[in-house]
Amino acid sequence: MMKVIQHTAETLHTALVSNSHDLAQVYSKYTQAERRLLEEGFRSGQPGSLFPPITVHSDSDWIAAHPEEPQDFESFYRDPYRRTPDAHHNTIYIQTIGSFGEVGALTDQYVEWLRDYCQAFFYGLSVKLLPAVPVSETGCSFRVNSNSHNLQIRTGDLLRFLANKKPKDAFCIVGITMIDLYPEDSWNFVFGQASLSMGMGVFSFARYDDNFYSRSYAGRLKKRLQPRQGDYSVFEGYYTPPITSTLLLRSCKTMTHEIGHMFGIRHCQWLNCIMQGSNHLEESDRRPLDFCPICLHKIHVSVGFKIAQRYKALLQWMEEGQSGTSGPVKASASHPATHFPKPTQAFHTSKLWLRRCLDILEKEEL
Ligand SMILES: [Zn+2]
Ligand SMILES: [Zn+2]
Repeated sequence: MMKVIQHTAETLHTALVSNSHDLAQVYSKYTQAERRLLEEGFRSGQPGSLFPPITVHSDSDWIAAHPEEPQDFESFYRDPYRRTPDAHHNTIYIQTIGSFGEVGALTDQYVEWLRDYCQAFFYGLSVKLLPAVPVSETGCSFRVNSNSHNLQIRTGDLLRFLANKKPKDAFCIVGITMIDLYPEDSWNFVFGQASLSMGMGVFSFARYDDNFYSRSYAGRLKKRLQPRQGDYSVFEGYYTPPITSTLLLRSCKTMTHEIGHMFGIRHCQWLNCIMQGSNHLEESDRRPLDFCPICLHKIHVSVGFKIAQRYKALLQWMEEGQSGTSGPVKASASHPATHFPKPTQAFHTSKLWLRRCLDILEKEEL
């Protein structure tokens, strides 16, 4: 069952600009070139379109499984609960919890890449890393999953920890970990959990490991092991996924999607978009790396930036310090341990896409 969700140009126009006068005013502040880019969305479905329509591949896809009211620009703009950064709350904080790899320097490098990416993505806001903490410092409960036999941390405890850590000037704080999560005893697992009103969330990249669902997954513990609560020594030297281009791509997507929610942006049902909901890994892999015009307009009104500058910053992140080869990142003679090549192979399609967007934005007016 493959279904294309094709909206008419008129529907998309209303979703983007709306029919109300004050919002048409907001929209008119874009330059002509920026409007040309945003209105590329109306050509969705035509060959070579920059913003293709959403396709539903199966009943387990998000839209099929979770019918919700679509959020157009107007309903976003008028939502009294949406959150906007202001002069005193304009920093996105990232808190890493537990190890991100065997090599300390590579761990640091990986979260630096994520930080830099988020800063380009939410162009105009500053993104800062809080000093990494070991799992023990959060005082969380944990368990060994009785089916998959991997270590899992309880999300509620991490959110409590983050609430106490949140700096005064935070717009939001995002906890990230390579350890799998569970929300409560009766649940098998969860990718992450957020409190939008408090501007915080915690997300795990454990299941973005290509090996997670295989029998040979190295994060499985011996069946009999039942660690004592409060004894965090099981986390020392515990398996973390190899740092690959795919892991970096998936991590960047998750982070930016989840931070997008912090502004009050709901799941996108308009066009192919980073804000599309996803129910499973295959669906989140299918999601593009960036916003559709409607969600871009939402983030633009919340943050404010020149669209071309934002795309340039993202392109620069993809082109800077990259590695030539695929496979797990390791320090080598040509790349000493303090500098690892950024594995951006998986970003190739996005790179081409960004260049096409910039072509439209920089085309001379006739
Ligand atoms: Zn979401
Ligand atoms: Zn969207």
